[in-house]
Amino acid sequence: MHELSLVQGIVDAVQETANEKKGRVTGFKIEVGELSQFDIRLIRQLLADITRGTPLEGAKVVVRREKCRVRCLGCGGRWTFKELAGTLSADEKEMVHFLPELISSCSKCPSCSKSYFEIEAGRSVRVVEVTLDA
Ligand SMILES: [Zn+2]
Repeated sequence: MHELSLVQGIVDAVQETANEKKGRVTGFKIEVGELSQFDIRLIRQLLADITRGTPLEGAKVVVRREKCRVRCLGCGGRWTFKELAGTLSADEKEMVHFLPELISSCSKCPSCSKSYFEIEAGRSVRVVEVTLDA
């Protein structure tokens, strides 16, 4: 499952930070890009499952949604995912979930109708903060 390997990657990264700094993780914060369309509730659940019985169990986890913003390379207009999603079919939305870059080829700029976008924010899932009790 896509989500499971993603969450495993997050947990590994957090644990690695703790190992490097020789501390114990008391909490960490992750941002889930809107464009990735990951279900935050599912990610929380998987985090709880994966960390059970590990040094990360009981750490305070904050999961935030990072808004997606893309810039049209045709006219320079900036759009949110919501504004572009209106031009996508259900199949295309599913594809964008796995390959966010596809938003560029699938959707059209509401202003100039071009399909060249640069994703400025909200593409992926990242660890933004790790708190240690070192
Ligand atoms: Zn445009």
